[in-house]
Amino acid sequence: MGGPSFDDRDGLIWYDGELVPWRDATLHVLTHALHYASAVFEGERAYAGNIFKLTEHTERLHASAEALGFELPFSVAEIDRACEETCKANGIVDGYVRPVAWRGSEMMGVSAQETAIHVAIATWPWSSYFSPEARMKGIRLKTAPWRRPAPGTAPVHAKAAGLYMICTLSKHAVESEGYDDALMLDWRGQIAESTGANIFVVMGDDRLHTPTPDCFLDGITRRTVIGLAEARGIEVVERAILPEELANATEVFLTGTAAEVTPVGSIDDHQFAPGETTRALMEDYDKATGKAAADAASAA
Ligand code: PMP
Repeated sequence: MGGPSFDDRDGLIWYDGELVPWRDATLHVLTHALHYASAVFEGERAYAGNIFKLTEHTERLHASAEALGFELPFSVAEIDRACEETCKANGIVDGYVRPVAWRGSEMMGVSAQETAIHVAIATWPWSSYFSPEARMKGIRLKTAPWRRPAPGTAPVHAKAAGLYMICTLSKHAVESEGYDDALMLDWRGQIAESTGANIFVVMGDDRLHTPTPDCFLDGITRRTVIGLAEARGIEVVERAILPEELANATEVFLTGTAAEVTPVGSIDDHQFAPGETTRALMEDYDKATGKAAADAASAA
């Protein structure tokens, strides 16, 4: 599935300040991050040679590290440059970029004050395989068996490795029943997000509704799409949304760096018909990222 294993590829990975051969970018089994989830990461996309919203992602990486109580040994500008250098070194024009930072091996216990902080950046090709028509059918979601934790329970705004434990469990649970992804509720039972993307709902008025990001990632794509909707004169309402309200929804879509704008065809027993608003924002987002221009150029 998905090509060669991620530890067995050609190319170069940026590792603590230098580019090393892909297969040599390893770490020891006694690494704090592996045992105690003391790791944060980013997911970025390069379109036509430019990493979209690069500095926002790097700033979030710094903020995530801070939320986990550590400081990255590289500045935002240094990591920005390293992401670009890594894409260039691997000949990535349209691809995914994965910076990751973690606590090393100097201490092996809950307390990890003296661990060295490491940073690595990998990138691999990634282009969209589905035509807009195929995507407009929408993906199928099912409500997850796990909920997003309360802000007093975990550093909910960090893109921290540990928070993905419940995402993987949720996604596996629904995939085994044939669904594409899980809808995660929060600890109060309100709609939160999917396992790797934020959610927007059109429901009978002219507005776009999206949950207030008070216990989950306020995605960079989410904020971009809010701006694009407002530029079209669509009012965006951030509020608590209950799962029962999906009965009134006409269109639902997800937003995320990997998901971009992804139409949702159903959640549990609720069916939606991705329409005008979803299509318009998919187009606007593709224009904003530079993907639309790149697709036009490759078709020409
Ligand atoms: N929520 C979760 C759990 C995610 O993993 C992501 C992807 N990073 C998002 C939301 C969307 O964030 P972004 O738009 O910044 O990629």
